Amino acid sequence: MKIVQILFIITASILVMSCNQNKEKMENTKNELETIFPKGEKGSKEFFTGNAYPTSLVEADSVYNTFIGNVYFEPGARSNWHSHPSGQILIITDGIGYHQIEGKPIEIIKKGDVVKCPPNVKHWHGASVDVGLQQLYVIPDTPKGIVKWNDPVTDEQYLSKK
Ligand code: MN
Repeated sequence: MKIVQILFIITASILVMSCNQNKEKMENTKNELETIFPKGEKGSKEFFTGNAYPTSLVEADSVYNTFIGNVYFEPGARSNWHSHPSGQILIITDGIGYHQIEGKPIEIIKKGDVVKCPPNVKHWHGASVDVGLQQLYVIPDTPKGIVKWNDPVTDEQYLSKK
């Protein structure tokens, strides 16, 4: 066998091996979200059910009057019912989750969605049962307040999505 043929066989073998490794890697991580921002500390049981990780990214100041942060929800995790005196915008950066305004059905939210929560409207948001959620929140005009917390979302309420 010529040296060129031997080199070809070696190169082809390495390519096949690395493709198989990539395939295994993708299969192992397909249910894990791509974390863009720091995960931070686990959120308080006082405000969240399950494993949720809120992290502030922009603290409001007199120039911007805007509060921006990230929340990573593991599957099954969700916020308590709450409202925002100045409203809130959610930008979903990965995964699948739920958002519900009081008195309305749960809506599915997913990567790429932008969701507006009007001022003083009671609602909650979090991950779906099987897939986590990563979301940015944008809260304007903080002198009115950032959030008013209410009761936890019960399992019955959370699982009411058909
Ligand atoms: Mn909210």
